[in-house]
Amino acid sequence: MKKMNVCVVGTGYVGLVTGTCLAESGHRVVCVDSDIRKINMLEKGKIPIYEPGLDKLVLKNKKAGRLFFTRRIAEGIMHDGHHADVAFIAVGTPPRSDGSADLSFVEKVAEEIAQAITQYTVIVEKSTVPVETGEWIAKTAARFVRKNVEFDVASNPEFLREGSAVTDFLKPDRIVIGTSSERAAKVMNDVYAPLKSPILFTDTKSSELIKHASNSFLAAKISFINAVSALCERTGANIEDVSRGMGMDKRIGASFLKAGIGFGGFCFPKDLEAFYWIARKKGYDFDLLRNVKEINEDQKMWTVHKAEEELWNLGGKTVAVLGLAFKPDTDDMRFAPSIDIIKSLHERHAIIRACDPIAQENAKELLKGYDVTFCKNVYDTVKDADCIMLLTEWDEFKNMDLKKVLKLMRHPIMLDGRNVFSPEQMRKLGFIYKSVGRP
Ligand code: NAD
Repeated sequence: MKKMNVCVVGTGYVGLVTGTCLAESGHRVVCVDSDIRKINMLEKGKIPIYEPGLDKLVLKNKKAGRLFFTRRIAEGIMHDGHHADVAFIAVGTPPRSDGSADLSFVEKVAEEIAQAITQYTVIVEKSTVPVETGEWIAKTAARFVRKNVEFDVASNPEFLREGSAVTDFLKPDRIVIGTSSERAAKVMNDVYAPLKSPILFTDTKSSELIKHASNSFLAAKISFINAVSALCERTGANIEDVSRGMGMDKRIGASFLKAGIGFGGFCFPKDLEAFYWIARKKGYDFDLLRNVKEINEDQKMWTVHKAEEELWNLGGKTVAVLGLAFKPDTDDMRFAPSIDIIKSLHERHAIIRACDPIAQENAKELLKGYDVTFCKNVYDTVKDADCIMLLTEWDEFKNMDLKKVLKLMRHPIMLDGRNVFSPEQMRKLGFIYKSVGRP
């Protein structure tokens, strides 16, 4: 393999995983972040996010002298006599108030990379960005780069999932690289060669569209099955059988056909919005994406509506919220359905008790100003509860002692937003048990 010099700007969920995994595959990697707290932690071998398996890999590659951290982009580009062959931009692209992607972090980093490079470098957009961002990065870099220093821009969207990010990065279904430059394509090929995964080369705009279209398609699949689950609830059909029957058709596929309380997280909601917005900007009204979002907004309130069906007014009633992260194995609370659910319980003056094995500290930050009692474990949370809302399918909740839970509650109502338990068994135990789309 050819050992490459890699700079990754942004050490969040994507940047840190990208940098660490590229070091693991043998390259020399410098990770950069403007957040000094993160860099200090990483230099001490601690990781600022929860991602299974990542801490061990960071330590291993730091020790092996393949992984370095700094706060300054210039030092990331020229580090200890090694000039970067590739500079990844992996900073956030959060939504603006109109739903479009805020690309100001990407622009700033493109500018700083261009100022720092002194030899040919491939500038890679790893962040999820709207189509045509590559052109903007190229224009920006051209304005700031030194005379006679060449560069190319490539798009290389990331498809990892939080919770299984390391495996997803090291063993992807496909790697997408978008560039019009053969020189850049060759460099990118050398970067990814050790992974031995299929690489799809496209032009930059197609690559950018692949990411937005993929995430929006997956979000649409989730909203579709959730809409079908609503019909199941109105007719007595069982969504699990319906999903199984649909998923056995190879044209449809079984994944992302699980009914629940809707999608959340840093990617699907914002990418769906940003995709809608860029389509509109380009003169195409992608209304389907609006519907996907609306179905999801309704679905998030499933547990609240079910609680009202059982308990009438929620004011003064105690609700035990089990799970805050948008899915298990992550501490990421950004756009988690639990936030909207808790806000709506708060509006209804419910007494809210909540716990999450990993995301609790991040949740506390986001829910400042809302009256929530954060508890240390399941049993503490369900004490004297009028109902349980199960929002994240952590193993801790799947394996809880249900008889003990039942004894601790005031009323035995369990609203299972993730279809974790068997309705028959739960009813046999004595729960008033409701799950999504199942009789
Ligand atoms: P994040 O917020 O966890 O990390 C972004 C990092 O960039 C932060 O640590 C921040 O301090 C740093 N940063 C911001 N401006 C900087 C600057 N000027 N210089 C240096 N560092 C700077 O975000 P994330 O979840 O890693 O997402 C990054 C991008 O990847 C987004 O576009 C996102 O949509 C995309 N993406 C995310 C995921 C995911 O699962 N989180 C998956 C695929 C793609």
